[in-house]
Amino acid sequence: ADGLMAGKRGLIMGLANDKSIAWGIARALSGAGAELAFSYQGEALRKRVDPLAAQLGSDIVLPCDVGDEASIDTLFAALRDRWGKLDFVVHAIGFSDKNELRGRYVDTSRGNFNLTMDISVYSFTAVMQRAEKLMTDGGSALTLTYYGAEQVMPHYNVMGVAKAALEASVKYLAEDLGKDGIRVNSISAGPIKTLAASGIGDFRYIMKWNELNAPLRRNVTIDDVGGSALYLLSDLGAGVTGENLHVDAGYHVVGMKAVDAPDV
Ligand code: NAD
Repeated sequence: ADGLMAGKRGLIMGLANDKSIAWGIARALSGAGAELAFSYQGEALRKRVDPLAAQLGSDIVLPCDVGDEASIDTLFAALRDRWGKLDFVVHAIGFSDKNELRGRYVDTSRGNFNLTMDISVYSFTAVMQRAEKLMTDGGSALTLTYYGAEQVMPHYNVMGVAKAALEASVKYLAEDLGKDGIRVNSISAGPIKTLAASGIGDFRYIMKWNELNAPLRRNVTIDDVGGSALYLLSDLGAGVTGENLHVDAGYHVVGMKAVDAPDV
């Protein structure tokens, strides 16, 4: 993939540590020659993000809380000053109160429902409002979703409802921005052990189930997601928009396993 992203500049949002899906994506993009900027939430994360950015030759590390309009404006103003334009953006951000990522969906509180939708869904639209203005030569945007949007998964609860809304917003954004050559897609990643995932009840069991039942009989890695992200964010994906690409070892195609399956 050397040179595939040469001359392209993009923003990675949602890097927390070297387990983050954003890190797998950033590594793949950087390996293909892209120039990267990073945004992080809260000063506590800065000391983790700085060295990771430096590893990929980036010194553009900027704070952004996507729950705050002014914070998003400040981030994009800084990018405009530094680069003038933007070729791609990766939105790898989600949040919900972990007390509601267990038990029953029906018990979701109004406050956490609204917060989850705000940070995990609306923020992508808010980001695209700013990114659109900098993507003057067209562009490509990517967000991260999960199968819990399509089918009921244990404990995913309000996050599943939010991801369904996020996937719908990808389609509306793709239509609105397509005439300016801006593509908008999502990757539906299989379960990966990250900071965010550790908040989900029985996550180890979900991972084990996926490993045993996915066609590839394994879980995916952040590098698997990185490779597919590179396809969608580069010109290899030039004809693809409004798509939700499952990077889940095939889990989403399985309805039921055969009784005599040797490994169940
Ligand atoms: P992670 O904890 O590494 O990343 C989540 C990021 O969201 C963190 O960097 C955090 O700082 C950021 N964030 C939360 N609230 C924010 C706010 N208000 N402003 C700015 N940033 C904020 O975990 P991850 O698993 O890499 O998550 C990345 C994305 O991938 C999320 O959308 C998640 O739902 C999605 N996803 C994860 C999995 C999985 O199994 N790990 C599977 C499918 C989809």
